[in-house]
Amino acid sequence: LLEMNHVKKSFDGNEVLKDISLSVEEGEVVSIIGPSGSGKSTLLRCATLLETMNSGDLIYLGEKAAEDVDGKTIYAKTNDLKKIQQYFGLVFQNFNLFPHYSVIKNITDAPIHVQKRNKEEVYDEAIKLLDKMGLTDRADYYPCQLSGGQQQRVSIARALAMNPKILFFDEPTSALDPELTGEILKVIKELAKEKMTMVIVTHEMNFAKDVSNRMIFMDQGVIVEETTPKQMFQSTNQRTKEFLGQYH
Ligand code: ATP
Ligand code: MG
Repeated sequence: LLEMNHVKKSFDGNEVLKDISLSVEEGEVVSIIGPSGSGKSTLLRCATLLETMNSGDLIYLGEKAAEDVDGKTIYAKTNDLKKIQQYFGLVFQNFNLFPHYSVIKNITDAPIHVQKRNKEEVYDEAIKLLDKMGLTDRADYYPCQLSGGQQQRVSIARALAMNPKILFFDEPTSALDPELTGEILKVIKELAKEKMTMVIVTHEMNFAKDVSNRMIFMDQGVIVEETTPKQMFQSTNQRTKEFLGQYH
């Protein structure tokens, strides 16, 4: 479903992604772990076209968003990128809801105005998503009237309303209290059960172990290890062991 080949990314001569290759199959849940500054967010930002790569390929469902030509990334035309953008959703650490839109408008706005879908159909679907997120009675609230956990559930509903093929999460619980963290992790586990394809950057090791089919450990811009959760936690790699050791 997603393929990234030999991705490199530098900021002012500082190489943050050093030849990263990654593929995600349909129905897979992949978590990315690693120390602060290892390039996890940059990788998600490159995958979701928020950041341009210096070199490497980015391919969704066999369609090239970007192609490496002689060590330089050439991006597809705007219209092709717009189409590819519909394939993924992104949930951020800080929710990123529109503060001046109600919950229901936050969820329905893009499906109606970007995807040009039928308004009633989108509203029906949004109500169902709110039910699923346990927010049935919050449709007309504004983000500032919700708890962090509720805001994050709205942003997950907003991402799902676009019917993405793959959902990216960048530390979806790191701005939340432990109690609220639990409710978000529960929602993500529920989505995993429904076979939603997801890539999750997280510091919640127990959760990552539970929910993932595969785990990727990144350090200093490289993938150090990529394996099943079970193997990851039994790793004999020094760097992996040191990193995971902090969580015991
Ligand atoms: P964390 O766990 O703290 O979120 P991370 O693994 O997500 O860390 P990144 O945010 O990808 O790390 O950052 C990797 C490196 O790239 C850091 O050294 C950071 O300072 C640098 N970096 C990221 N974005 C930019 C930018 N827009 N301009 C310059 N440097 C950047
Ligand atoms: Mg980050």
